Amino acid sequence: MLLYYSFGKIDNGDKMILYEDILKEENKQDNEILRLKAKAVELPLKEEDLNTLSLIKEYLDNSYDEEAIKKYELRPGVGLAAPQIGVSKKIFGIKVYDENKVLHEYYVINPKIISESVETTYLPTGEGCLSVARDVQGLIFRPKKITVRTHLYNFETKETSKVVLKLKDYLAVVFQHEYDHLQGILFIDRINNEDPFGIPENSSPIKMG
Ligand SMILES: [Zn+2]
Repeated sequence: MLLYYSFGKIDNGDKMILYEDILKEENKQDNEILRLKAKAVELPLKEEDLNTLSLIKEYLDNSYDEEAIKKYELRPGVGLAAPQIGVSKKIFGIKVYDENKVLHEYYVINPKIISESVETTYLPTGEGCLSVARDVQGLIFRPKKITVRTHLYNFETKETSKVVLKLKDYLAVVFQHEYDHLQGILFIDRINNEDPFGIPENSSPIKMG
């Protein structure tokens, strides 16, 4: 794959992203890219950034398609950030059902978290990441509610809009996990190694329906 050598540009023609193409922190060269602070995206969107968004959407769409998972040997994901496919830019996608089984799909450009609750939440099973292949155990505590200012790309209207999102619980956790990727942070960095399963007083678990 040429992905590593092409910052800001995916030089792989129309090839779809497979699990093996996603950068892994266990690999030194991959990790260097995963650890960069991603650059802001220029608007209006350029073709190469639209291409990045499309590759991310395709991976997330396939993650909900049993046949595609089997055919392409995908590890399904609910979010994927541009740095994970070798593009160090402030772009990510999330496609996720919340605890009320409502689907949320966002293609996010240049996000900024502008406020967050003191109360935190966590996934009782811990978090996972397409860029971390090894088994890392421990809980991650994140603000339960966040307010975000961002641009979103809509694949149906092909328009980019500026919005303020208020997110909570599982959706807020997934958003913050992807947002971390843009700062070069991985969930494993947020585990307290001294006490990986200790739960702070201000935290309550996410209850999936
Ligand atoms: Zn991740």
